[in-house]
Amino acid sequence: MRVDYRYGYHADAAYPAAIVNITNRCNLSCAHCFVFRDDNPNEAVSPRLEPSDDDMLATLRELRDRHGIGHMLWMGGEPLLRPRLLRAGVALFDHSTITTNGTLKLVDLGPGALYVVSLDGPRNINDGVRGAGSFDRVLANLRALPADFSTPIQVQCTVTPVNQAHLEDLLGELIDTPVGWMTFSFVVPSHGEQSELCWPTLEERMHAVREVQRLKAAYPGFVRNRARSLELMAPDLAPAVTARCPSKQYVLPLWLDGDSFTTPFCCYGNDVDCDRCGAWVVFDFAARIDATAADEARLDPQSAGA
Ligand code: SF4
Ligand code: SF4
Repeated sequence: MRVDYRYGYHADAAYPAAIVNITNRCNLSCAHCFVFRDDNPNEAVSPRLEPSDDDMLATLRELRDRHGIGHMLWMGGEPLLRPRLLRAGVALFDHSTITTNGTLKLVDLGPGALYVVSLDGPRNINDGVRGAGSFDRVLANLRALPADFSTPIQVQCTVTPVNQAHLEDLLGELIDTPVGWMTFSFVVPSHGEQSELCWPTLEERMHAVREVQRLKAAYPGFVRNRARSLELMAPDLAPAVTARCPSKQYVLPLWLDGDSFTTPFCCYGNDVDCDRCGAWVVFDFAARIDATAADEARLDPQSAGA
């Protein structure tokens, strides 16, 4: 498969992680979906016209070796529409994360992979965004998993003004399921977006950030956002994080465009408002970089004395 490097991504650069869109088909049609925004490479074609599993796997193996990719995040569309490709694909990388809407049967990919299942609130709130019946289908799928299902499962909730008051209700629904833990990401608006699904300013987002901080304190083993990543979302700190987006530096986004891959502006596509980005991956990376810098400063006497 051809790979078109655009928007500052380079064929000779190192990327420790990548995101690959293995299909533009999806069985849901979520209101806040960034994949299917205009101006993104997202045309869905029939399975017959998509690149074959073998072609895609050969390309991904080559990209792994070229860029040193250790962690692959598999997404779509809905990646579980191509289970055979997933089974073979996770064997190519040291770490694999599969982002799924959770409405299709989960395939056991072994203990080394991780499922991240998207749910955006308790039943009524989730279904208002992700479609009627989707919440119950996900919960039924999770509860039907065999006791020896070996792939760990994380739920990720995209926080918006619509669900910010209902996050604890979602958490309560998940405690007695096979879900191991959850994380909260915050919506990434498109340029100029003014809708009920995003906050106009970072100041207005803080109510939701504080709610996640409260939940982390109340359920420390279950809510896995790093404390520092949430602190970095404050209006006086977030602009410095998103201005030097760590995701754009370290994660190669591979989106399916016909029979080739292309790199969009970032893993959230082409039409994004960085100034209001609340992506979990961005702030988690930034928190980890912060922690590493602090460790290095402690180990370096010159820096520590400065
Ligand atoms: S399940 Fe994911 S890819 Fe499909 S429409 Fe919803 S957000 Fe988009
Ligand atoms: S939208 Fe978010 S993830 Fe994308 S480049 Fe901007 S800050 Fe990074």
